[in-house]
Amino acid sequence: MSRQKPNPDDNYEQMVRERMTKYKCSRIVIERGQSAFWNTDDEDNADKQLARDAGASTLEEYLQFFADQAHRQDLIIRAQISGEPLEVLRLFFPWLGSDEPVNAADQVDALNELYDALQPPAGDQLRCPHCGYDGEEETPEGTFRILSDETIYREVNAEALSASKKTLLVESVSQRYDEDEEKRDRVECRSCFGEFPIPAGLNVDYQ
Ligand SMILES: [Zn+2]
Repeated sequence: MSRQKPNPDDNYEQMVRERMTKYKCSRIVIERGQSAFWNTDDEDNADKQLARDAGASTLEEYLQFFADQAHRQDLIIRAQISGEPLEVLRLFFPWLGSDEPVNAADQVDALNELYDALQPPAGDQLRCPHCGYDGEEETPEGTFRILSDETIYREVNAEALSASKKTLLVESVSQRYDEDEEKRDRVECRSCFGEFPIPAGLNVDYQ
């Protein structure tokens, strides 16, 4: 499907952009919500059914519903990519994936424990949770650093069939994704090189 180049004078374009800002989501999500809402001739429309089942009836409710769904999907995809949430889930819910019957109260306790564990540390002091270093005496490596991830990319060229598994052929040379924002800001302790979250009470001013 080809899409027309956006024209800022176009009323439709402007409306979509305002909705993207309001619902903090992509064009695809806004257009999905709109087309589900405006769809009148196809009662079997799956998106419309989804939104209706969730209790949406106005256009605003449709847009909110699809925006919420997209945010949830983003979180899930990020968790799938990092693989880390799986480790945490196995730690707190050791019975997950098994047929073992589990007490409901235990599940609630584990959920609450998980929720607490995922909160950033309180307070406004940097103190390494791994080694206790507080930055008061500078080490030869400095005190603390803020680390952030940036994304690099490589072009996917083709798929190749090998004996056992389909293989993606990817260029070995990587490029920096300049338009991508840095993410996963965290503190690195220069005493033990462990990493930890920025405390909740601390602002970071990038100069
Ligand atoms: Zn440390």
